[in-house]
Amino acid sequence: MAVSCAFAQQNGLTPEHQLARDIFKELIEINTTDTPAGNVTTAAEAMAARFRSAGFAAEDVQVVGPLPNKKNLVVRLHGRGQGKPILFLGHLDVVEALRKDWSMDPFKLNEVDGFFYGRGTSDIKQGDTVLVANFLRLKKEGWVPSRDLILALTADEEGGQSNGVQWLIANHRDLINAEYCINTDAGNFESKNGKRLLMGMQTSEKNYVDFRLEVKSNGGHSSRPVKGENAIYHLAQGLARLAEFDFPVSLNETTRGFFERTAALETPATAADFRAVIGNDTTKAAAAARHLSAAPYFNALLRTTCVATRLEGGHANNALPQTAAANVNCRMLPQDSLQNVQSTLTRVLADDRISVSVVGEFVPAPASAINPAIVHTLEGLSARLYGRLPIVPVMDNGASDGKYLRIAGIPAYGVPGVFSDVDDDRAHGKDERIGVKDFYDGVDFYYEFIKALAGQPVTAAR
Ligand SMILES: [Zn+2]
Repeated sequence: MAVSCAFAQQNGLTPEHQLARDIFKELIEINTTDTPAGNVTTAAEAMAARFRSAGFAAEDVQVVGPLPNKKNLVVRLHGRGQGKPILFLGHLDVVEALRKDWSMDPFKLNEVDGFFYGRGTSDIKQGDTVLVANFLRLKKEGWVPSRDLILALTADEEGGQSNGVQWLIANHRDLINAEYCINTDAGNFESKNGKRLLMGMQTSEKNYVDFRLEVKSNGGHSSRPVKGENAIYHLAQGLARLAEFDFPVSLNETTRGFFERTAALETPATAADFRAVIGNDTTKAAAAARHLSAAPYFNALLRTTCVATRLEGGHANNALPQTAAANVNCRMLPQDSLQNVQSTLTRVLADDRISVSVVGEFVPAPASAINPAIVHTLEGLSARLYGRLPIVPVMDNGASDGKYLRIAGIPAYGVPGVFSDVDDDRAHGKDERIGVKDFYDGVDFYYEFIKALAGQPVTAAR
């Protein structure tokens, strides 16, 4: 105790920040990649040990999973039973990192010039740490939430065959069942050059689906081509039509909120387009959508997208092709349907020789309706801590574990808590890092956030 206090004073950390730093270091230095060297269970057990020694009952600290190295941690902090639990989520696994690609050992926590470096410092062991540190702190302070709070730190979000959230839903739903989930691994608290810009809360994500386009033809000797009977030409011409096609613009609650609440942060021309695209003047909205569609990110927010990503065909240089095929990858808006996308592709390809089939199993996730209580809480914290940053609903173009919860009927909201620079995203990449101050601010933010979500009912200030 004396040693840790002296150390804490030395680098000027409060005991809460020192604890968070210790947890962060421990997590970063446990390799949780989906490789023979990685083991998620080691990290789950390390955190479980902290909870047990902090006085959590054994049955409230579960380490469960399908494989010895793919176990998930689920912890419960008991409340007064006023409502269904709130689930807090992060994943323990990280993307592989090779020492030779990095400037330092990716599995050591390095603090250099105001940054923490290491694999998982921004995806998403900082989120895990923030949750663990605050569950421990709240327990230590004897704080009793209005309802049960659940912490789940899971396996295989980044890949692998043992996705922890899916497994928990299928095998231990009782452990994680909740009114809603707060996921640290989604959404975006954005800053730029040290200035905080916005607090993005992820409510939904686009649904991923691949289609296989295939044309069969008779084949034969390539010295005797047959007009109109070539699988490659049929496919190529269909793809050329698809290349020219755009799905119609379709807004939802989240993207409307995004354009409305971020307009003020944009240049005047883009801000005008943001306001027009959600406005009532349909002519102006259409023009704004055209302008915005020139930027791939805004285009992806405005519509379902489908794009050719792979191509195959033929079997010999001197033979007419018998097969030509392409993969078309679609990112569907949550309000779009598979049936609509498939029939649209068929119509646009405009050739009944091209078959269009879904690759694999497709289970769409609905959007989570924006929860006013969470937004209200975030607005209160934003006003108190950060000078009224906008709270922006976010639809991700990629995918998170929130998807499985949404499919299972548990709304999920991505709230990272830790700010990061929009121009410094190193997740999955070399020399991944997070700002040291941003990290500690995130620890403090989540302390307030958890207490506000599950504290005494908030009465409006008069
Ligand atoms: Zn992640």
